[in-house]
Amino acid sequence: MTFALNDPRTSNREIIFYNSKMEEESIRANKIEELLEDILEGMDRDCFYLDYQPKLDVRTNKIVGFEALARLNHKELGYISPVEFIGLAEERMLIYDLGLKVFERTCVFLKELEDRAYEDLSVSINVSGIQMLRDEFVEDIKRAAACIDVDLSKLEFEITESILISNFELINEKLKEIKKLGIKVSIDDFGTGFSSFARLKSLNVDILKIDKYFIDGILEEDEESLISGDIISMGHRMGMKVVAEGVEEERQKDYLKKHGCDIIQGYLISKPLRKEKALEFLEKRNK
Ligand code: C2E
Ligand code: CA
Ligand code: CA
Repeated sequence: MTFALNDPRTSNREIIFYNSKMEEESIRANKIEELLEDILEGMDRDCFYLDYQPKLDVRTNKIVGFEALARLNHKELGYISPVEFIGLAEERMLIYDLGLKVFERTCVFLKELEDRAYEDLSVSINVSGIQMLRDEFVEDIKRAAACIDVDLSKLEFEITESILISNFELINEKLKEIKKLGIKVSIDDFGTGFSSFARLKSLNVDILKIDKYFIDGILEEDEESLISGDIISMGHRMGMKVVAEGVEEERQKDYLKKHGCDIIQGYLISKPLRKEKALEFLEKRNK
């Protein structure tokens, strides 16, 4: 049995155990922070990169785009999940600059796609609320995109429902500005947080991305599977495109196709790939 640290029944051994575990965690967090700072200063360039996960149009069976996913792989610390380092970057105020790096690299990838005559493909990136709330956000992305000379209408920003909870009006205004640039906006992990459909209607978004939780439910053939179908028709009624993420099995694809889902993404199509592999994959699939 374990007790809280301030509980007199907690033994000295337990306190030492907790302290050393907390210390270990804090040393690791500081090391990751240092690494991120180095990356932002242009050092340790190779350990930070983007993977690209293909998205498939269910009707045409063609790849129509990718999601860019940030990666951190360090010789000493090993592979660090984005859930860990993005969370830490948010906590330690590094997410703004890191997000700009992700944006720039994505623009470079888009340019490469254009150069290879894949003109209709789009690439999405995950944008955190902290980035969007910075005053200079729109100006900074405009400047970065102009430098690389990309067509902004091929970019998509994925934002999670959770960032809307406390800043709905402010974020919605920002979304309006972003959309004016031609960038599409999607609601990521849809169905897990923000539940008011009335508010969703007034939100400046183009795409709904159904969370994997509901896609998993399709295999259970329980009520969750019915919800995926409902989300698809609701999204369409609001004039949005609907994307399903975390599709792992043919059975899920069949269900989604039957219910008119527009785009699917998941291990069934492909895992996230390094840039060169993503381009090779595209070459094979979209011949
Ligand atoms: P997300 O945006 O929901 O991304 C989807 C996650 O599901 C990715 O994990 C992806 O690798 C994984 N995934 C895709 N298909 C499947 C599948 O069929 N089965 C399973 N089990 N998983 C699948 P990843 O790459 O570890 O990213 C985790 C989260 O980290 C992302 O969730 C996103 O919230 C965040 N993230 C990643 N890159 C960035 C970034 O550049 N900026 C920000 N702000 N967040 C990022
Ligand atoms: Ca996402
Ligand atoms: Ca997601």
